[in-house]
Amino acid sequence: MSILLPPNSTIGIVGGGQLGRMSALAAARLGYRCHILSNEPDSPAALVAAASTVGDYEDPAVLRAFAHQVDVITFEFENISAEGLDLMASIRPVRPSPAVLRISQYRLAEKSFLNGIGVPTARWAAIGNPTEMEAAIERIGLPAVLKTARLGYDGKGQMLLRSPDDAARAFRTLTQKPLIFEALVDFRCEVSVVVARGSDGRMVTFDTVENEHRHHILTTSYAPARVPEAVATAAQAIARRVAEGLNLVGVLAVEMFVTSDGKVLANEIAPRPHNSGHWTIDACPVSQFEMHVRAIAGLPLPQAVRHSDAVMRNLIGPDDLALWSEVVATEGLIPHHYGKIEARPGRKMGHVTRLFPRGGLPGAHGIAAALGPLAPGGHG
Ligand code: AMP
Repeated sequence: MSILLPPNSTIGIVGGGQLGRMSALAAARLGYRCHILSNEPDSPAALVAAASTVGDYEDPAVLRAFAHQVDVITFEFENISAEGLDLMASIRPVRPSPAVLRISQYRLAEKSFLNGIGVPTARWAAIGNPTEMEAAIERIGLPAVLKTARLGYDGKGQMLLRSPDDAARAFRTLTQKPLIFEALVDFRCEVSVVVARGSDGRMVTFDTVENEHRHHILTTSYAPARVPEAVATAAQAIARRVAEGLNLVGVLAVEMFVTSDGKVLANEIAPRPHNSGHWTIDACPVSQFEMHVRAIAGLPLPQAVRHSDAVMRNLIGPDDLALWSEVVATEGLIPHHYGKIEARPGRKMGHVTRLFPRGGLPGAHGIAAALGPLAPGGHG
């Protein structure tokens, strides 16, 4: 059923991280209040929201009380149980639906779903015991990546396999079973697409962006991706097919590999605003966060146009954060601080965006110069 949430209504956001923070900021501009559910006080989202609850995501009493205080519910992270979302969905609309979370939380279901709707992925196999591992090595071959099927992110819970010995060791190390065995993709680059879909089925896709990771954590996104037009278009078509296949209401990101022969393979679905879409805040009239709020609130979805090219660089851990005073002093860098108090290594503390005229994304040297203190090879 389509709703049109009036201003001053309350959007409940499960999760208190930076994605919730930036969603709450976008919601506030449209006249909505946000109520954050987080398991810790002073979460980045709660710091900018009208109301917050600190409580256990798995406590039915907490979830019930939270749901009763809001008009519509969304989530900004995936470590809540789908059963918890089901419980809240019995009280208020939950968007995207718990069914979407169920698929994205479980790599085996995610890969089956993707292949089922005709979206290619790396070849994969489900692994529950050493015999299945031997069969997978035989059928798919090595090198490969072994991942826990549930709740791994940013490279946690995954191991690279080069030999059968590695495979045996990895099977023992990754104690959480089942596992997914994936062929190692020899990719030319990684790309992603954020797509928004309304309850009326209208979809808009942001431009395909190119992503660089360090230690499995996203460091830099380039908008648009420096790939042939056909590749960028194929990636957007995959994202739309996924959103439609999931009957999505909200935004999602699909992370993909571009192989050396120009094929696009889907790797992962994130049913929420995504780090690789942060550039849209500064380079698009309507950001991924506003698009998400519009979709879940039943507002129309405008075109996802890009008025500028952009490079987005994450500020990760204490080392990057130590550059903050230089970042805010650098002409042209648009700083975003998430308000986190403790800068642990690997933790995303903020990001910066650098805009360029549309079509004017410079080469590597130009980008490095434009990033100032955050240039690759600099002390960032
Ligand atoms: P994931 O946890 O699946 O998002 O993987 C994190 C990162 O690990 C990806 O962004 C890739 O850089 C790398 N990776 C994951 N799976 C594969 C694969 N099958 N082949 C090559 N690289 C991979």
